Amino acid sequence: MIANVNLILFIAEAIGYFTLMVTLLHFRARIGIGIFLTALGVMHFMETYLAAVFYVELPFGIVSPGSSVFFTGKLMMILMLYLQEDAAVVRQPIYGLFIGNLLTVAIAWIVQWHAPLQLTPDTVPSDAFLKEMGWLMLWGTAILYLDAIGIILLYERLGGYLRQRPVLRFMICGFVMLTFDQIAFFGALHYSVGVPVAAFWGGWKAKMLAVCIYTVLFAIYEKWIGHAVTTSSVRPIGDIFSDLTFRERYNDLLSRTGRDVLTGLYDRTRMELEAPVMIRESLRQGQSATVMILDADHFKNVNDVFGHLQGDDVLRAIAARLGTILRAGDRVFRFGGEEFVAICPLTDQAEGLRLAERLRWTIENSVSTPDGKPVTISIGVATATEDGDVFTAILSSADERLYQAKKNGRNCVFGRSGVHEFTVAG
Ligand code: GH3
Ligand code: MG
Ligand code: MG
Repeated sequence: MIANVNLILFIAEAIGYFTLMVTLLHFRARIGIGIFLTALGVMHFMETYLAAVFYVELPFGIVSPGSSVFFTGKLMMILMLYLQEDAAVVRQPIYGLFIGNLLTVAIAWIVQWHAPLQLTPDTVPSDAFLKEMGWLMLWGTAILYLDAIGIILLYERLGGYLRQRPVLRFMICGFVMLTFDQIAFFGALHYSVGVPVAAFWGGWKAKMLAVCIYTVLFAIYEKWIGHAVTTSSVRPIGDIFSDLTFRERYNDLLSRTGRDVLTGLYDRTRMELEAPVMIRESLRQGQSATVMILDADHFKNVNDVFGHLQGDDVLRAIAARLGTILRAGDRVFRFGGEEFVAICPLTDQAEGLRLAERLRWTIENSVSTPDGKPVTISIGVATATEDGDVFTAILSSADERLYQAKKNGRNCVFGRSGVHEFTVAG
């Protein structure tokens, strides 16, 4: 009898939690997303407290509403937030909860050193709760972090099989992650504090029931109220993981520094850092590496006739072309004004010359001045180890050959054995 009343309360709590949180989420554009996030955090404290001290009997076992209704609900809310926003937004509550939990543990640890007053004769000061918030809270925090990141990655992974079935994905994610959570958390409780196995199964069943309730509510929301799933993501999992773990900020910073503002290519500083490493790596593998230096022909004329801004456009067009012709392992840098340097690892002189010719041909045939005249480049090519085994030596050989190419009439490729003549295109 009591168990049935508890079950009805359980269902009412789940519906109430979901309705309130989804309402805040739904109106986030109007009222601000901070309200949803703050509510999520405040409820988190309550559910932790309940999970520690408050258990009830349901028809299928002993259950804490804190962990089964509210913890499950929070994880599903994190997934819903991800579906409506993206990884960069959802990581805010994930890290907020993580840091907040650590702070709570730290504060609880400091506060227990106070000698608290007895305010009235029948309220005995108690620090029992503070004492409970030790390592278990730390363990729970770590699991929560894994749960939150895991549920999002799993949802994306399932997209490969169930792209058109967001509700089914939502449910599977809930089942899998909360099973993981139950094993990880109760496993710790069982082996350390000796919480009986019966509590494990009760808690697990309650979490699965909560997932079912949330899935039904999610389906209703998805079908009739709002479209939760706005991100039909086709991004690779690795990218999403990078976003979730803030790695993309770091990668972005890395890839932006050392960029040339005009062309977007890596700049000379970056070349001086990377080129020697690329050469060394090829040599270490017992292979050649080719360096080419490219210079636009009569570029001063372009500026003189059309002005610097048009000249800049032509430079950008050259840079963009070079980027598309070079292969995945190659790197092109803006060396100076209208000069570029390309590093081609694992490439011998003959192959380097072919590649250079392809670059020369492509620029001539695809880049033009504003009045439609072709823009041409001259290229000097040098290869390790024939022309040296350190980058600066190879570059200076290439530079000498560029000078020869200019002397030879421009719009040509100059290698070890002079101007390169092509019999077969490409
Ligand atoms: P060549 O190389 O064929 O001997 O003739 P050139 O006219 O290209 O000669 P040089 O390489 O000496 O001149 C480079 C010119 O490139 C000088 C400058 O007007 C132009 N230049 C360099 N940097 C920029 C830039 O960032 N924007 C523009 N618009 N022009 C640039
Ligand atoms: Mg030039
Ligand atoms: Mg020049």
